Amino acid sequence: MDNQSPERISLHDKYFRKHIAFEEIALRTAGIARQIQADYADKAPVFLVILNGAFFFASELFRNLSIAGAEISFVKIASYSGTSSTGKMKQLIGLDTRITGRHIVILEDIVDSGLTVHELSHDLQESGAASVSIASMILKPDALKYPVEVAYAAFRTPNDFLVGFGLDYDQLGRLYRDIYIAE
Ligand code: 5GP
Ligand code: MG
Repeated sequence: MDNQSPERISLHDKYFRKHIAFEEIALRTAGIARQIQADYADKAPVFLVILNGAFFFASELFRNLSIAGAEISFVKIASYSGTSSTGKMKQLIGLDTRITGRHIVILEDIVDSGLTVHELSHDLQESGAASVSIASMILKPDALKYPVEVAYAAFRTPNDFLVGFGLDYDQLGRLYRDIYIAE
């Protein structure tokens, strides 16, 4: 076992145990990539990655995609503090890509209440996007409070707090290659 993949970790005041192995994440993400490849092959989409959490998921997805005219852009949004949603969104790095008339695929790490992707989709539609869809590594169906449709989700999980593979607990834990669950 290497340092990147222990069975149990501690971050700040909490313990977490291994929950989803990288190999499973890679497999499911490749499955989503196949669907996106088929759906967007002739649409020259803009992939909009929500920083920081979604960048591991996004890069794994991009390794499996090859779409002519596709672009990648980033926004940085925070709605979480510690292990719970604040219910308010802060856009920390804004959108710098022209999206009028473009097909947008939002890439998110976790859709929890749905607030983040709901507000972002709304903004993109207001700005004249031709279409907006959502791909999320994880969907927590029981936590959904906003009317969002997640077209592509690698995993559906209960409302447990997860870290690893880009996901943090107050900035710690992003670098683990597997996903861990709070004990
Ligand atoms: P929402 O706006 O859907 O309520 O919250 C989505 C954001 O909350 C995600 O982008 C993610 O950063 C964060 N989040 C939700 N659940 C978890 C979780 O279990 N672990 C971590 N690390 N972040 C989460
Ligand atoms: Mg996030």
